[in-house]
Amino acid sequence: GSTIGIVGGGQLGRMMAMAGAQLGYRAHIFAPEPSGPAADVAADWTQGAYEDATALARFAEAVDVITYEFENVPAATVDLLAGLGHVHPNARALGIAQDRLSEKAFFAGLGGRTAPYRPVADRAGLALAVEEIGAPAILKTTRFGYDGKGQARIMAADPAQLDRAWAEIGGRPALLEGFVRFDHEFSVILVRARDGEVRFWDSPHNVHVEGILSTSVVPAPAPVLAQVDEAREIATQVAHALDYVGVLTLEYFAGDKGPIFNEMAPRVHNSGHWTIEGAVTSQFENHVRAICGLPLGSTARAAAGVAMENIIGARAHDWAEILADETAHLHLYGKHEARPGRKMGHVTRLRLNGTA
Ligand code: ATP
Ligand code: MG
Ligand code: MG
Repeated sequence: GSTIGIVGGGQLGRMMAMAGAQLGYRAHIFAPEPSGPAADVAADWTQGAYEDATALARFAEAVDVITYEFENVPAATVDLLAGLGHVHPNARALGIAQDRLSEKAFFAGLGGRTAPYRPVADRAGLALAVEEIGAPAILKTTRFGYDGKGQARIMAADPAQLDRAWAEIGGRPALLEGFVRFDHEFSVILVRARDGEVRFWDSPHNVHVEGILSTSVVPAPAPVLAQVDEAREIATQVAHALDYVGVLTLEYFAGDKGPIFNEMAPRVHNSGHWTIEGAVTSQFENHVRAICGLPLGSTARAAAGVAMENIIGARAHDWAEILADETAHLHLYGKHEARPGRKMGHVTRLRLNGTA
């Protein structure tokens, strides 16, 4: 049989490995950690630093195709892997998506709308950016941010607030983004095959709590549905321009003049977890199909409505009570240690008929 190499061993890798297993593929993880949520379901695990050329070569040798469940892999590592095997999505897509400045510039270059933003290199640059963008605004590190980490809100152009925000993000290279007053957030989740075919899942309405995704619901409410076509059109251009292969996710705010691009993820996405039971083919399965050169499955919704809720942090849960809803599907990621803000699992609930 064939083996899929997955860089990263978290829950996305776990669910990708499960989808691959159904199609007869073995999963081999490469990660700096000795173990992780993907370990329960992967056939092999290579622990190695991203700079460890020997470990990377051993990994690449053992697999037939390489993909990522984690995008913050150093460019040099990606280049090295690309020289050793078939890597999807490609190094350029990954490089652009892991840098907020380059992903916004790339998107804007294709004619898309973003919030106003300015690069911020130092504390003096922050003062200048606030003068130009105004307040409220959000200061975000250019790289490595996730779940709202590496972000600080600036409510007024007051030097003490700027000091605090700059310290909060650790004085790292950043950008200042104008605060978008939106009613809804949504994502475009697409899969592009090796032959360039693009398919979309329904765009979920995403609600974040304290910077972390809380719920994703399809179908999204009317104000989101009204903007999905435009958001998809540019997303398609992004995918083609990058010669992207696999699942690509773009996050948007529904603004009053149309969709405003926030960021993209060059991978399967938390807001697409509903597709496991809620779509004919899940994001994980279609990602596997795309990178392995197989025909894509239907992305059609398989229920009247689907709601995905993240299980976050250490709160005690009554799993039996969740499962007492006979349309609920519980996913636990096998994380042994619950920490505040940590994604422990999710629940997907299906609405089977047209009535609410
Ligand atoms: P993710 O876990 O999605 O990768 P992240 O750390 O990369 O998160 P963002 O997606 O940039 O961070 O921001 C997290 C959330 O904060 C957004 O989904 C949105 O709710 C809010 N947010 C971010 N930027 C803005 C903005 N310019 N205006 C208003 N709200 C924002
Ligand atoms: Mg992000
Ligand atoms: Mg985000």
